[in-house]
Amino acid sequence: MASVDSFPRFAPTPETAPFWEGVRNRVLRLPRCRTCNAYHFYPRPLCPYCWSRDLEWVTVGGRGRLHSFVINQRPPKHVGPGPIVLAMVELDEGPRLMTELVGIDPDPARLRCDMPVEVVFEAAGEGVVLPKFRPRGAR
Ligand SMILES: [Zn+2]
Repeated sequence: MASVDSFPRFAPTPETAPFWEGVRNRVLRLPRCRTCNAYHFYPRPLCPYCWSRDLEWVTVGGRGRLHSFVINQRPPKHVGPGPIVLAMVELDEGPRLMTELVGIDPDPARLRCDMPVEVVFEAAGEGVVLPKFRPRGAR
């Protein structure tokens, strides 16, 4: 039986494969509807706003704002030692995505909702790359 600390198996679906392929190439891509022009995330076969199936993948700027966060003091072992900042980032294009905030101490006194953030790409082993975010301008 898999333990809660084993690395989750990475298995893109047909709907999510273009997202993961982009991330592997260090670009952030989102699905956009050709009918109503709205971006959405997570990827799905229908536009969640107008139900159109006429979707395309678009490379986006990788910038946004910290919408919300929680500090996880004890993340699973495969993530590494905690604490880490689990973040909901609202991208400039509109959609929000769950991610990890890096490049800043996981200290509530330093974190501020609405702070500007930008995407970074981090290898997570076994050929997997994850999009994470850091405060804009951080190194
Ligand atoms: Zn639409």
